[in-house]
Parts: sequence; C-alpha cells; structure tokens
Amino acid sequence: HIEFRDVLKRFGDNTVLQGLDFTVSRGERVTLIGPSGSGKTTILRLVMTLEELTGGYIHVGGVPLQYEEKGGKRVRIPDKRRRRTTTDIGMVFQHFNLFPNMTVLENIVEAPIHVKGLSRADAVSKAEGLLAKVGMGEKRDMKPSQLSGGQQQRVAIARALAMDPEILLLDEVTSALDPELVGEVLAVLKDIAAETDISMLIVTHEMQFARDVSDRVMMFDQGSIVEEGPPAQIFSEPAHQRTRDFLRAVL
Ligand code: ATP
Repeated sequence: HIEFRDVLKRFGDNTVLQGLDFTVSRGERVTLIGPSGSGKTTILRLVMTLEELTGGYIHVGGVPLQYEEKGGKRVRIPDKRRRRTTTDIGMVFQHFNLFPNMTVLENIVEAPIHVKGLSRADAVSKAEGLLAKVGMGEKRDMKPSQLSGGQQQRVAIARALAMDPEILLLDEVTSALDPELVGEVLAVLKDIAAETDISMLIVTHEMQFARDVSDRVMMFDQGSIVEEGPPAQIFSEPAHQRTRDFLRAVL
C-alpha cells in the first residue's frame, strides 16, 4: 500500500501539493482526475522518488521513501537505503520511453536480469508470457521504432509487469496516442486490473476507463483533494461545484 501523510511539494515558490493525506490500499485502484496543472503527475513522480519531497512523508508497503520520522524529527533517508522500495513500483509514462536501441524482448528482460538477478532463461520465458498477454508475442524481435504508439505502450506495460510490481503507476498512458490506438491499450490495462491484485494509482483523462477500473476516484484541484469516492458517485453525483465544472468540460 501507499500512504501519503501531510505531503507538501513546492517547485521554488510554487506550492504544487499541500496537506495531502491519503492511502492506496493493497490491490486498490485509485484514479486521480482534475484540471491540468493540479499536481497529479507530481504525485506519481514523488512515489517514484523522481521528485524531492518538500514536506511530509510517503510510505510504500510501510517503508518510508525519502524521509522518516525519528525521535519526533523528519529525517532524510540516505539514497543507498532507498533503492529497495522502488523496485516494487512500476511506472508507465505518457511517452513510451522504451530503450530505442533494444528489441522488444531485450527491453523487457533488461531489468529482471540486471536489477532482480533473474537468469536469462527465466527472464525470457516470463517476458514471452507477458508479451502474449499484451498481444505483442509476434513482435518480440522488433525495435520500438518499428511499432505503433499503441504497440509501444503495450510493451511498456509488459516491461513494468516483468518486475512483479506491487504497485503500478500509470501517467496518462494514452494521451500521446492517436485516438484509434487508445482502445487497445486500455483493454490491456483492464485485463490486468481484472486478473491481478496489483495496486494502481492512475492519472487519466479517459473518464470511461476511470469508471471501469477504479475502486476510488479522487478529484484534485490546486494541489489538494476536492472530493473522493467510488466512480459511480463522483461521476454521477459529484458533491462539489469544481468537480461538476471539470466533468462538464471533459465529458
Ligand atoms: P497535467 O494534467 O497537465 O499533466 P498535472 O495535474 O499532472 O497536469 P503536474 O504536472 O503535476 O500537473 O504539475 C503541477 C504543477 O507543478 C504545475 O504548475 C507545473 O508547472 C509544476 N511543475 C511540475 N514539474 C515541475 C518542475 N520540474 N519544475 C517546476 N515546476 C514544475
């Protein structure tokens, strides 16, 4: 599970997140919605420790990520001790960031071999299973540049899953795709949501997808949670005017 406690994030003078308290339970799917610039991507980047936390704490599986509380003080955790946790988290970004010089298969086996220490044979057999699951079995020896955006994104999903993450972070994974390719990527993610108990923290502008996969939807504005609840409630009976305005603009 992921726990945010009094999280504060500033870029210079710009306070992007403030007083953020929430938990994503084991196996839960939580979707973040809200206007551009409201801080959604920053939340995922903080969980990946790609950004420095200005205040508060984030724990993953009970383990503090960047800062811990020690004797009533907020203490920074040395980089060396941090690495362990982040291998449990997989992230798929908006721009498919596959290694361009590697084949599809090489992209997937890289981290399991070099980070997890899997044998090549085990990593390959696992990768083949995952490629079949995302419908990319035939493309294993291709280079990313020979694939469509939707295909690249499906490989990126398989690559994230190859590390057996407990948590999958999905950052607008379809927003750089041509419209006709969005469906195939969302279908793969829906299957994974149905077949696994991986926790997911999702940022998306695809409201139907958010409805289909989420246990909980959180509406963000200006760095804090406006309201949250099951998708049926947020999409059908939003309590706040800001949520209603946002949904009217995007639906
Ligand atoms: P979008 O839906 O457009 O991706 P978002 O809700 O994900 O928006 P973020 O990308 O988290 O929003 O950005 C929140 C705020 O933080 C914005 O005002 C943005 O300009 C600022 N910001 C993000 N990254 C940086 C950075 N590296 N340096 C300075 N400011 C940043």
